[in-house]
Amino acid sequence: MAAFDVVVLGGGTAGVHVATEVAGGGKTVALVEAGLIGGESAYLACLPSNSLLLSAGRGEPWEDAVARRAEVTGGLDDSAAAQRLSRAGVQVIRGTGRITAPGTVEVTRAQDAPVPAAAGGTASRASSTTTLTYSDLVIATGCEPVAPPIEGLSDIPAWTTAQSLSSPDLPRRLIVLGGGPAGCELTQMYASFGSQVTLVEAEPRLLPGEPAFAGEILAVALRRAGADIRLGSRATKAERTADGLTLALEDGTRIDAARLLLASGRRPRLGGLGLDVLGLEVTPGMALPTTTRCEVAGTGGQGVRVWAAGDVTGTTHTHASRYQADVVAANILGRHREADYSAIPRCVFTTPSVFAVGAIPGGAGVTTGAGDGDDPGADHGPGADHGPGADHGPGNGGRTRRMLRIARPPSAEAAAEAAAAEGTAEASPVAQGGSGPRLVTARARLGDTARGYLGQDDLGRLELYADAGTGVLAGAVAVGPDAASWMSEVTLAIRARIPVAVLADVVHAFPTYGEALQTALRELAGTGDSPARADQQEKRTGTLSELDIETPEDDAIEQRQEVIADEAVASPRREVPFDVNEADAAEQERAVGFDDDDYR
Ligand SMILES: Cc1cc2nc3c(=O)[nH]c(=O)nc-3n(C[C@H](O)[C@H](O)[C@H](O)COP(=O)(O)OP(=O)(O)OC[C@H]3O[C@@H](n4cnc5c(N)ncnc54)[C@H](O)[C@@H]3O)c2cc1C
Repeated sequence: MAAFDVVVLGGGTAGVHVATEVAGGGKTVALVEAGLIGGESAYLACLPSNSLLLSAGRGEPWEDAVARRAEVTGGLDDSAAAQRLSRAGVQVIRGTGRITAPGTVEVTRAQDAPVPAAAGGTASRASSTTTLTYSDLVIATGCEPVAPPIEGLSDIPAWTTAQSLSSPDLPRRLIVLGGGPAGCELTQMYASFGSQVTLVEAEPRLLPGEPAFAGEILAVALRRAGADIRLGSRATKAERTADGLTLALEDGTRIDAARLLLASGRRPRLGGLGLDVLGLEVTPGMALPTTTRCEVAGTGGQGVRVWAAGDVTGTTHTHASRYQADVVAANILGRHREADYSAIPRCVFTTPSVFAVGAIPGGAGVTTGAGDGDDPGADHGPGADHGPGADHGPGNGGRTRRMLRIARPPSAEAAAEAAAAEGTAEASPVAQGGSGPRLVTARARLGDTARGYLGQDDLGRLELYADAGTGVLAGAVAVGPDAASWMSEVTLAIRARIPVAVLADVVHAFPTYGEALQTALRELAGTGDSPARADQQEKRTGTLSELDIETPEDDAIEQRQEVIADEAVASPRREVPFDVNEADAAEQERAVGFDDDDYR
């Protein structure tokens, strides 16, 4: 038995950050990690993915790109990360943790993991468990891949995103299942390196959680990169063939490929953690409900405190994990801090990239009024039912929402708390009850700016959403080159609640894409005489056509939309074993469940 002030379960972005911060604040800390110290982002998700995308953009050959990726991910060697933690005063314990009682965690060590000398526990190579006690527990176990029920899936050569991003193979023909951010990024990446890629998305458009224009533009960009984009038809059956596999879609299409890449969903990793002993009932797919202080709701009164940070709470980005980790660390160290989820960026690092932040029309508690123009994604809002347990909520007419995005606190409790603290309706899906702020939309095309003209940018576009009641920005979505960079001022504006009237007076450098922002902001402030005003009038009826982009499958997409719209997707879950490569060895010990959620 070893006693610590704080035990952190999971050593990914969130866990490492909390552990380092609270150790720096003088607490004794143990961090328990079943796989790689540093988690998914550094080795198997963000960094390898962005490294390969950048290599593709530079026109490097695949072999050079793989070599660069190996450099970036340190050859999947986490010893430097473990040493950094040790130097920070954190006791690193390699193994799988399980809560056995309030205040106690049992760690089952991986077979070959060294026994930590300073742990003072009872572990040895012969006896592979050790018990830790804590006053504060931080659950930061991330999320795990899930996939839809497809007959024969376990018999075909399939990759999770982690497996693809650690493989040296470049499949000649690849099917990417899922048109969320990861599916789009990996489609573009493999297509750029010469793979013949078919992306299959059951929804009628890519990025189903964002306003329609974003996914529509991305579909054009991916097709230009050579990918075949199949929208609005669900994959139903997979069969192994001599060359790989054949995937059958419900519309009768059959697609051959060497490999299938599953980017069709992930869920918070809560199985086997022993949460029941803390009085928590969890069902597969749900996220840990947290307060705005990131304390796990419903765990009070047990003499210990339980916190959560990262994907396990239903967030989906590294920066969100880090932000929550900061909040948890501050609270553990006695500095009261609450998370504000009003402006967490959502990014897709394709070319053009997609950047979204805050609320979108049709999101939870957001009503679209007369000044709103069209109503893109009326049932696709990130706030609609994307929080923890999003897939179980009644939103979207009973449909399973596919991208989990935070435009609100990631739990009802958190939302209620935030609303009570700040008196804001938009912070609380509970308070909103579907009748939140009315959003007014303004639009601009990057092609109307000098930078867009110089860059021959025919696709870029942005939409800003202002709260008609308060006159502040509530959300934004942009598609364009490196959109995250020039849209960051919008993130600040939403978070700081800067009035649109002030934003419209901000001077943007010439020639930059910021001028498109200026156009839309002036439109919102009612001072614009720009093309955006005319654009807004036109936009009430059109979508793709006004963008001057070729839409060969336009009609077909619309037809499929009608079919899909009435469909309930409460698909049964089932467990399917994956072949997981050695780079993701920890995954082998965990069952990979399948369901129909998709948020990365
Ligand atoms: C393909 C892909 C690309 C992405 N790209 C981006 C991007 O560009 N930008 C971005 O912001 N986000 C991106 N993300 C999301 C980002 O990777 C996650 O949001 C982030 O990694 C979450 O960090 P975390 O600490 O919550 O979880 P993780 O990094 O997953 O860490 C959780 C850790 O807990 C460990 N663990 C689990 N259970 C136990 C247990 N019982 N005992 C001990 N340890 C346990 C796991 O082994 C794991 O290491 C991407 C995701 C994917 C899949």
